[in-house]
Amino acid sequence: MSPSPINQTSTSDNRSTLSPAIADEQMTKQDITLGPMPDAEGYFGQYGGSHIPPDLKAAMDDIAKAYEEITKRQDFQDELQLLQQTYTGRPSPVFHARRLSDKLGGAQIYLKREDLNHTGAHKINHCLGEALLAKFMGKKKVIAETGAGQHGVALATACALVGIPCEIHMGQVDIEKEHPNVTKIRLLGAKLVPVTFGQATLKEAVDSAFQEYLKNPTDYIYAIGSVVGPAPFPAMVRDFQSVVGREAREQFQKAYGKLPDHVVACVGGGSNAMGIFSAFLEDREVDLVGVEPAGHGVDVPEKHAATLTKGKPGVLHGMACYVLEDDKGEPSAVHSIASGLDYPGVGPQHSYLKDIGRVNYESATDKETVDAFLKLTRLEGIIPALESSHAVAWAIRNAPNMPKDETILVNLSGRGDKDTDYIVNEFPHVLEFEQAL
Ligand SMILES: *Cc1c(COP(=O)(O)O)cnc(C)c1O
Repeated sequence: MSPSPINQTSTSDNRSTLSPAIADEQMTKQDITLGPMPDAEGYFGQYGGSHIPPDLKAAMDDIAKAYEEITKRQDFQDELQLLQQTYTGRPSPVFHARRLSDKLGGAQIYLKREDLNHTGAHKINHCLGEALLAKFMGKKKVIAETGAGQHGVALATACALVGIPCEIHMGQVDIEKEHPNVTKIRLLGAKLVPVTFGQATLKEAVDSAFQEYLKNPTDYIYAIGSVVGPAPFPAMVRDFQSVVGREAREQFQKAYGKLPDHVVACVGGGSNAMGIFSAFLEDREVDLVGVEPAGHGVDVPEKHAATLTKGKPGVLHGMACYVLEDDKGEPSAVHSIASGLDYPGVGPQHSYLKDIGRVNYESATDKETVDAFLKLTRLEGIIPALESSHAVAWAIRNAPNMPKDETILVNLSGRGDKDTDYIVNEFPHVLEFEQAL
């Protein structure tokens, strides 16, 4: 195993080790306007940037430049919009979850239905953008890592559509756990590269994929699966996801004559949350809530992935961000019932939004998540992804304490078809007909 090109955890760049006091002072100034973010170096306050070796930095700078030029082009925007409408099925509707709201007896809960997208989640939004960008750049291969396989499937889908070869690196341990996704990746014509070194999970898959990418950055392009990694990815993935927020804001305003009081999304890397939050950042009256996976409880080490709740500023996967670390300063082992949320880092813009207090980051445990999964399924006939169920759990916990005319808009990031077997095996009580709601 050669040295990792990307999995550095050092805090060599002092921008990421600013004392909280200094950071606070800077934040207050920047908070006057949320501004266009990030800055020219890819920083959101002290977070983000490109903490990577020079050869990789040069390749990322090329992607950044091409991204800026190509996404301004009308032919790119027209093609992306047409595919969003005719392929993904956008706009996704905003749905009033009346029975759930009535049952809770407080605030009205609404769902932005990203679960209705082709492939069943929000990930197709940025994968379509990334695959189309690759095509416009004339790239010959798209490379990515995948953990549980959701990003791998969405990217393989987008590459099949656009007609560009795709290579997905996946840890052997994950390959054995995530059979349906592995099969889909192969069926869609992507090359699946099993990664067997180290722990043989996501971290090693990232290393392996970046090594392949560095063999020929001219012909290859890397496609990251969330608002994470070195610049320009956190901004690029956010921009491709921002369609969720733009639609939701307009739909809600049109249907109800006002903006929602709370906008809630689950946070793994943070792409679905940045997608919906981005349209509401300037609306100071709208409370934005990111829900992290508390697993067995945020005070049980290695049994949660609540990075913003329990982590501290550091460097991971080429970016400065909040990181969960173990005693040795290595990224901590993490756990969530939702495999799409178990990541020891988080997007740099979320790290910034936490520090300036614009978004409240809270968490939901595995147990609350299963309860939310079941309630939404039974009361609305919508089986949500376990990831999205974290955001639903926040709404279920808080709605009863709010007046009936208060509104909560939940980003329902994906559907739960992938989770049903697991839920039924682990929590057989969910099949009981009389299961108390
Ligand atoms: C991958 C995934 C997530 C977590 O990713 P973010 O980048 O935090 O959005 C959330 N929900 C679903 C359905 C997913 O597949």
